[in-house]
Formats: sequence, C-alpha cells, structure tokens
Amino acid sequence: MNYNHQFRRIYISESSLQDSVTQEILNKMPSRIQRIIPDTYSFAEEVRDLDPKTVLLLTRSKGDIVNGCPGTDDSYLCCNYQVINQTQNCPMHCSYCILQFYLNQPATVLYTNYDEIFIELKQKMLRQSKRFFRIGTGELADSLAIDGSVLFAKQAIRVFSEIPNALLELKSKTTNIHDLLQIEHNGHTVLAWSLNPQEIIRQNELKTAQLIQRLTAARKAAEAGYLLAFHFDPILFHPHWKKLYGELIDELYLHIDPERIAWISMGSLRFPPSMKEKIIDRYPNTAIPYAEMVRGMDGKLRYARPLRLPMYQLIYQKLTAVSNPPFIYFCMESPLIWKEVFGKAPDSNAHLDFMFAENLYQRFPGLIPEEPRRINYDEGFSLDQLPD
Ligand code: SF4
Repeated sequence: MNYNHQFRRIYISESSLQDSVTQEILNKMPSRIQRIIPDTYSFAEEVRDLDPKTVLLLTRSKGDIVNGCPGTDDSYLCCNYQVINQTQNCPMHCSYCILQFYLNQPATVLYTNYDEIFIELKQKMLRQSKRFFRIGTGELADSLAIDGSVLFAKQAIRVFSEIPNALLELKSKTTNIHDLLQIEHNGHTVLAWSLNPQEIIRQNELKTAQLIQRLTAARKAAEAGYLLAFHFDPILFHPHWKKLYGELIDELYLHIDPERIAWISMGSLRFPPSMKEKIIDRYPNTAIPYAEMVRGMDGKLRYARPLRLPMYQLIYQKLTAVSNPPFIYFCMESPLIWKEVFGKAPDSNAHLDFMFAENLYQRFPGLIPEEPRRINYDEGFSLDQLPD
C-alpha cells in the first residue's frame, strides 16, 4: 500500500539535507513540487487551503523525541508505554482518528535525524537497565504507512535487536511489511495491527487495509519470527456488534496462533467533545457522532458504561477462550471497568507496566534477561524526568 502519490507538496528543511535518508525518501516520491526551506521558515500560509495529509515536511527534530505516552487523566489506568514520534500524521482516513484533534500543524512531518533519535533511545534505555520497556512509533502516526516511516522502522528493528531491555512495537493498518521480513530482529520487535470487523472498517477506516489483508500480513510476520500484537481499539458500537466482534475474533484465531501474540488491547471509542463537529464535517456518512455518549472523568466522550461493558465482556471472553491466551489489557479504562471485566485491576500504572513485563517473561522465555522485579517499576518512572 503506497500513499506517496497523496503528497502534493514537499518541503525539505535545509538541515535535513545532511541526513542520507532524506534523499532516499525523496527518491521514492513521484515528482511533486519540492522546495528546500530554511529551518525557521513558516510555510503554513502557503498551504492554508491544503489538507495537512497532502503536505510533507522533512526536517530534523529539536529536543527529545523518545517520551512517555501522554495517556489520559489519572482516573484511568495507562500502561507506561513509551513513544518515538518520528512521524506525525497519517495518510489514511479513519473517521474517529484523534489526530484530527491533536495535531495542529500544516503538514505531515517526518524527522530525518535517525542517528540522533537512536542515540537518545539507547541512552534512555541504558539509564534504567533493570526494567523492560515497550516503545512504539504508532502514537502520532501509522508506523508503516509512509515510506519515510518504513525506512525508520527498518533501522529501528536493527537497533532494538541489540537492546536487551526493550521491545519495539510497530502498529499499522496497512500491509507494508514486505521490507521488514528479512531483517534480523532478534525477537525484539512486535508487529501490531488495529482490528475491527470488516463492516466497520468499510464504513470508518477509509484507505486502510481490509481485515483479511491485515490478518494475512500478520501471519507472514509471524512466519518471519516476529511477535504480534492486536488492538481492538476503538471498539465501535454497531447494532450487530455481538455478531460482528464475535466473528472478528473467530477470524483472528483462524489465521493467527494465540501463542505468537504478545498482547492485545481493548479500548472503546473516546474523543474530546470538540472533535464531534470535525467528524460530522469530514465524514458525513459515519454514524459515530450520533451514538449515545457521556463525558468521562477525563472530559472525553465515551459510550456509557451499560453500553461499553457488555462489549468488553464479550470480546474478552472470546479472546480468552483458548489455551494460553495472550495478555489482554485496557487502554485508558477505569479500575472499575477492569474489575468488572477481568475480575481484578492493577494497583497503578506502574503495576500495569510490571504486569506486562511479568507476562512477557513467563510466556516468551529468553526475551527478558532477568525475572522482572516490581520495585524497578514502582519508582515513579518517567523518561522525561531522568537526569542527563
Ligand atoms: S490509521 Fe490511525 S493514525 Fe491513521 S487515520 Fe486511522 S486512526 Fe488515524
């Protein structure tokens, strides 16, 4: 799946020209208006009438780029995931995409100073060598949609193969894994896909890979020795949700051995109230804005508990109805929902982080060198606050 043709204009900051990958990315682009600009130049006015998904900026990052996932309000549990925001924005069109709200920049951004990013990453991993990190590139982008993201992913897989205390997660709704299959990953990369029933993909995830394409790509990734992950996020209400999500899980396990799955997340639709108008404006045919939603403790709209709880319960029961089921967790849910669905909840974000490490240690022998100790996860961890 190639989205290069979507870019109508490409800006290249002068400093980015020193990075070899910049030319490599440009070589993959069809001939488009390309312009080299000083690093301080603002082109926002020039592209005011263009969708930021159609404008590309190649530049170098300033400041830290490996950071903690912002998560949400303290009322909900988050998992201390870490993110590398090398790519920002995405060429696909999901009606519910939170980037419509969060990203307020005139272009899709690709940082080209890979070497510096990897130095920062290694330094941060070394500083807390006794704990295990999960780090992804799919927070402000799809990890594999744009060639510049795939180039980064290829190098990152090699870098992570030599970091004993971290796993890289590449999260996608594409099938762009071909260039990754031959790379020596040493088991330290997880290839992940977001899943929804095909009916929901058709209505709400435009320009993404079909369900069967995602599962076929995942199977190929597993055959190449990669660990896998899946994200049932966002789970969307549909009049036939029981049938659709039940069939989705049957389909998943038909294609994928649960023992290859490192983790599965669940999270129901949520977005800031002010995003509602944008969704109606951009995706007039979607039913998303008209579902019954309530304002959660973090101010975001969510399905009311009586609506989202049975969806979680059904999905969880089906996902765990296999021997040796994968580790399943909620993304941004309350301890109450955890208890009602799983029968227990982590005491804190740090505890959830530790539970991941414990589960990986038990299910994938050799992946984590030493048995994880809770104390190493409880120390008020934040990459941002670590001393230089
Ligand atoms: S694939 Fe992800 S990042 Fe891209 S539009 Fe859909 S939700 Fe947003």
